[in-house]
Amino acid sequence: MHPDALPPAHPKASPPFDLALDAAMVLPIRPANRVLARHTVLVHAGKIEAILPTVDTDHYDIRERVDLSRHLLMPGLVNLHTHAAMALMRGLADDLPLTRWLEDHIWPTESAHVSARFVEDGTLLACAEMLRGGVTCFNDMYFYPEASARAALQAGMRASLGMIALDFPTPYATDSQDYLNKGLALRDGLRGESLLSFCFAPHAPYTVGDDTFGRVLNYARELETPIHIHLHETAQEIIDSEAAFGMRPLARLDRLGLIGADTIAVHAVHLDDRDVDTLARRGAHVAHCPSSNLKLASGFAPIARLVAAGINVGIGTDSAASNNRLDLFTELRLASLLAKAVSGAAEAVPAFAALEMATLRGACALGLDNRIGTLEPGKSADIIALDLSALELSPCYDPISQVTYAAGREHVTDVWVAGERRVADRALTSVDTVSLLARVGEWRSRLQRNAD
Ligand SMILES: [Zn+2]
Repeated sequence: MHPDALPPAHPKASPPFDLALDAAMVLPIRPANRVLARHTVLVHAGKIEAILPTVDTDHYDIRERVDLSRHLLMPGLVNLHTHAAMALMRGLADDLPLTRWLEDHIWPTESAHVSARFVEDGTLLACAEMLRGGVTCFNDMYFYPEASARAALQAGMRASLGMIALDFPTPYATDSQDYLNKGLALRDGLRGESLLSFCFAPHAPYTVGDDTFGRVLNYARELETPIHIHLHETAQEIIDSEAAFGMRPLARLDRLGLIGADTIAVHAVHLDDRDVDTLARRGAHVAHCPSSNLKLASGFAPIARLVAAGINVGIGTDSAASNNRLDLFTELRLASLLAKAVSGAAEAVPAFAALEMATLRGACALGLDNRIGTLEPGKSADIIALDLSALELSPCYDPISQVTYAAGREHVTDVWVAGERRVADRALTSVDTVSLLARVGEWRSRLQRNAD
């Protein structure tokens, strides 16, 4: 569903309810630009049943009532692009351009160390960080997605797992068909997990050939699954593609039929008018990763132009190796500020639009907007609470402005995913952080020895 479309009607809720969240304010994202004062979100069996004035719920039969009288509730944030396991490589190599960073540091470290165990520990570290920062869903692209799935389920977090494809061997898979077979088998095996969904993740036009793209496209059409790919991240990628294929990467993928309403183009930094037109005509989505683009000096994605062309834009962190935070509050604020500076228009990507990108628009790109992305009856109870009484958030004239421009992940106090409380008063409820940090320390020693 397009993010501007109206939600389906839902029958009126009736008690008893599992959970009532009594909040000072509720920012449901739909209807747009609305904040509801002193409202209660009623949850049952993991779903939002109703959002009502708190006074109207006093007599309801409710199992657990949570006092959030200093808080604002909003949908959990959707991280539209990351490589979660790379959290173990945070700060391993900084201040380098993409090609040298990848070829001299990241790829050698991966080939020496990446295993299912590495991915499970790294993804759990990422999940812990993201949950505490208000992210309830992430779209991942990495090796050993079965290990990412285990970590996400342990953390109780929603994940879209990338069925990765590359045209060169790694310890994970021998060739492109082996990558795809492993991803497809995992998808089949985890079909019953309601927190997990899947997308195809051919890495990039410069690491995947036309034959592999053709197979990805056939599977994606048959299984109605999104395709998640890095695209037009650097100027060099375009120069190399013109030399090798006689055309820009986006034109090549479009000719192969790969650009469509199920495509998530990650980065989309270097775009000419024809590229923007192609993305718009095909109904493709863009995953904007502002910090990663800044840190790797990739450039400035023309977000205001994409929005004006009607393209659905969500926001991602990229990995902790190129960011170095998995912090969507930083990203959504940067998305708004950069759009203004790049377009020369202070009106570009206003406060609410940035919040929409970090919630509903990300969900829409993943095909999950019927389940998450807004606080509405019938949707999953993926909800975050921000403490609005913090002094950095005072005074509060406009809560939407406050969340986009003043709040940070440190103001997130509580997080629910499918109605389960995963963060309670800033503490993770489903991750043993002491044991996790001990394992992370062991990985740091191993990777450090390799770097030395
Ligand atoms: Zn990436």
